[in-house]
Amino acid sequence: MQRDIFSEDHRLFREQFRRFAQKEIEPKIAEWNARGMSDRETWRRAGEAGFLGASAPVEYGGAGGDLLYDAVIMEELAWIRAHAMMVSLHSDICMPYVVSYGSEEQKRKYLPGAIKGDILLGIAMTEPGTGSDLANIQTKAIRKGDHYVLNGAKTFISNGQIGDLFIVVAKTNPEASPPHAGISLVLVEANTPGFVRGRKLDKLGLRGQDTSELSFEDCAVPVSNLLGKEGQGFKMLMEKLQQERLVIATASIVSCRRALEDTIAYVKQRHAFGQPVAAFQNTQFKLAELATEVEVGQAFVDKLLAAHVRGDEIVKEVSMAKWWTTDLQKRLAKEGQK
Ligand SMILES: Cc1cc2nc3c(=O)[nH]c(=O)nc-3n(C[C@H](O)[C@H](O)[C@H](O)COP(=O)(O)OP(=O)(O)OC[C@H]3O[C@@H](n4cnc5c(N)ncnc54)[C@H](O)[C@@H]3O)c2cc1C
Repeated sequence: MQRDIFSEDHRLFREQFRRFAQKEIEPKIAEWNARGMSDRETWRRAGEAGFLGASAPVEYGGAGGDLLYDAVIMEELAWIRAHAMMVSLHSDICMPYVVSYGSEEQKRKYLPGAIKGDILLGIAMTEPGTGSDLANIQTKAIRKGDHYVLNGAKTFISNGQIGDLFIVVAKTNPEASPPHAGISLVLVEANTPGFVRGRKLDKLGLRGQDTSELSFEDCAVPVSNLLGKEGQGFKMLMEKLQQERLVIATASIVSCRRALEDTIAYVKQRHAFGQPVAAFQNTQFKLAELATEVEVGQAFVDKLLAAHVRGDEIVKEVSMAKWWTTDLQKRLAKEGQK
């Protein structure tokens, strides 16, 4: 179905990105999946070509577009299954924290490099004992003079090996009540003494994606690296949830469409009992149901993308979309296998 959220400029941008991805990304996907991570040179090329920070402010080197330009990139990468290169994590999940809450000094220091692909970003929330229950994190960033000294361990951190700058969620006041009021966000450069990269984790899926452990051992960063205000970390994380969940739904529905297309291609060429598998009525019923769900999901995601760009508050709806599209992705892969 014709999608009506994209303008002619978005369409041209998609063509440009598709050409870039065909030349610079697609040929490397198998190697990235085998190695468990992407490479810096491709990130730099993406930055040079203007594909990092497509919606970041122009004064720091961004293209100043709306999120639909970034959505184009997410969709194209999801279609070719380039999970190793998490542009959305860099441009649409991490960068907005610096844009929204960074001081002028932080923005000038980090945004131009991030947009060029020289400074790769990550966010470190999750800990070995704490996932969804974020208020319970144990990593501490205790102020000593003009530094915060970080101690603690993180896990499942995307870009953990390749990243240069991490937004670290830590407790600046471990005694705060309620606990979430003690949480702050601290920018930690990967070359800071005491910043330790742990294991790159082996995963069943997203094999090209670099998901790692990190730890902080008396890792001292200047107080000027505090992002926003002390004790406001939890609030900032919640404020950014809308875009983060929408980003996942946007890529996920494209992954669903890709799995469906691959299944259709397979059942057309595979024969059983003297006919293509696609000729069985049960196969046709199943595929028709799944195709319907993909169209319904895309319509929902498009409606949410348009609403998000308009500035509507839709955190409830994007949460529904994240759950529904990722669930469909699992179901589709399972049904397609049968
Ligand atoms: C590929 C990948 C990339 C990731 N990248 C990052 C990243 O870049 N940065 C980052 O900080 N994190 C990252 N994560 C971590 C991710 O955000 C966490 O997995 C998520 O927060 C959930 O935490 P958890 O896995 O510890 O599980 P939790 O949600 O904490 O669950 C732990 C256990 O408790 C159960 N449970 C949870 N809630 C309830 C409840 N209400 N009632 C009953 N039982 C419950 C669950 O079923 C589970 O058994 C990544 C994870 C993956 C898989």
